[in-house]
Amino acid sequence: MDLGIKGKKALVCAASKGLGYGCAGQLAEAGVDLVICARTDGPLQEAADRLRGFGVKVTAVACDITTQEGQAEVLAAAGDVDILVTNAGGPPPGLWSDWDRDDFIKALDANMLTPITLMKAVLPGMMERGWGRIVNITSQSVKAPIPALGLSNAARTGLTGYVAGTARQVAGKGVTINNLLPGIHDTDRATSLDGGVMKAKGISRDEARAQRFATIPAGRYGTAEEFGAACAFLCSQNAGFIVGQNILLDGGATNATI
Ligand code: NAP
Repeated sequence: MDLGIKGKKALVCAASKGLGYGCAGQLAEAGVDLVICARTDGPLQEAADRLRGFGVKVTAVACDITTQEGQAEVLAAAGDVDILVTNAGGPPPGLWSDWDRDDFIKALDANMLTPITLMKAVLPGMMERGWGRIVNITSQSVKAPIPALGLSNAARTGLTGYVAGTARQVAGKGVTINNLLPGIHDTDRATSLDGGVMKAKGISRDEARAQRFATIPAGRYGTAEEFGAACAFLCSQNAGFIVGQNILLDGGATNATI
């Protein structure tokens, strides 16, 4: 399918690996020039080189996107963008009683206020130019809470509320904002969560994965490529009537009718 976005420019955050890279890869394949970021320069530059293989321009900015300095640096490098994909690492797991105010502020900064800051920075230009696409990578925990990820549940649900109202205020200017909600995908994040299950249950990695596969009707983890393909569709010309939606990519794991 021709996504109709060749020659557009995208800022994809936290994109040297995992889901962010999956989104960057599918946008690059559609002919979109990219600005990407991650904290660690080596893997970021390697990712940028791979993405240049699609024949698009790629600018790589090594920074922490959850800091004000990082956001300023990335936004300065990006300039006027047509597409924004927000993403950052997820908060650590724990028990509801583990976290104090500082932990919540950190999670809110990373997974709620960072995407909001980036959206506020790019929205005026998109609205003026009459076209824009924003996709926020959130989590299935927005639809169905994951008990051990209370910080994530809280921060991402806050972002979802902001998007719900904002998406409807900017849609008339040709700008769409939607959220993609990953279930378990085969990335470093999943590997680290597998590690937690191995440790807690004293089982091997294969056993931990098999146990988690069994909780997913599709019987497997998702891939970063298929996640990226859904993101690229939401960023396409064809998706202009999809506004303020929360789209689950979880292999059927969330047991809900709607
Ligand atoms: P991942 O494989 O660990 O990749 C994370 C990417 O983000 C890396 O490129 C990392 O590079 C970069 N990054 C992390 N923190 C950053 C920061 N503060 N500033 C800039 N770049 C940063 O993670 P993932 O699985 O793709 O997950 C992406 C998001 O989706 C996370 O918020 C995660 O919680 C959420 N999620 C994932 C799953 C899943 O199953 N994979 C499920 C639900 C939700 P550096 O480390 O070099 O910065």
